[in-house]
Amino acid sequence: MGQRYFLEQSPSADAPEIILSGAEAQHLIKVMRGKPGTVVELFDGSGVEWEARILDVRRNDVTLEVLGSEMVSREPALQLTLGIALPKGDRQKWVIGKLVELGVYQVVPLVTENGVAQPVEKAMGRLRRQVVEASKQCGRNHLMRICEPCTLSVFLEQQFHQAWIAHPLSAEDVSGIQSTTVAALNIESGTAGIAIGPEGGFSVAEVSKAMTAGWEPIELGSRILRIETAAMAVAAQLLLGR
Ligand code: SAM
Repeated sequence: MGQRYFLEQSPSADAPEIILSGAEAQHLIKVMRGKPGTVVELFDGSGVEWEARILDVRRNDVTLEVLGSEMVSREPALQLTLGIALPKGDRQKWVIGKLVELGVYQVVPLVTENGVAQPVEKAMGRLRRQVVEASKQCGRNHLMRICEPCTLSVFLEQQFHQAWIAHPLSAEDVSGIQSTTVAALNIESGTAGIAIGPEGGFSVAEVSKAMTAGWEPIELGSRILRIETAAMAVAAQLLLGR
């Protein structure tokens, strides 16, 4: 896969030329040192992929000649939604990039009883930028959605063909919650939702509420995984190779 750039605005279907501007143009000009004649790939998040040749490089924008365009989907048949009580700082950005690569459909930042502060609008913007960066790298033409943060209760109202809440079972657990094992994660198409808790875990009340709403508790093994490991592990289990 060659150089890929993201178009903030979709060009008209029959446009012979495309102007690349903003951060993507700066990347092409200053980082990649793009020169006239170089052929690159463009995408706008709708599934369309353009092949285009650089015609003119100016200070702030770049003109490209359209060589061709086609719909190219690299999406898995399963639309996987992860509700995650996101970790703090750079760990957020990192896990979002990995979930884009794995083919997750959307991420819903969760507000939970034991969670830390949720991303503010500026942080959400950074996460959406990370989605674009990861999509450029992995060749995805549809952008993974980052939804507005919501409470676990609201997330549990969403309808999926299969829905799980990841909850480790500990030897001291006296809640009586019966979790199923990771082998249950085996749906190949349709929709699935999985909730991943904060560092402090979901409360027993939250897991009970999820079970009442039809969500199945699932355990991922005898070791406690960090939030981002748990999110990547379930995504890989369902999406890798698809
Ligand atoms: N002390 C917390 C607890 O007991 O729930 C650990 C939380 S863990 C760092 C963060 C989240 O990752 C958990 O709420 C759960 O959703 C998921 N998780 C981590 N390890 C897991 C495991 N072995 N089984 C199921 N879920 C796990």
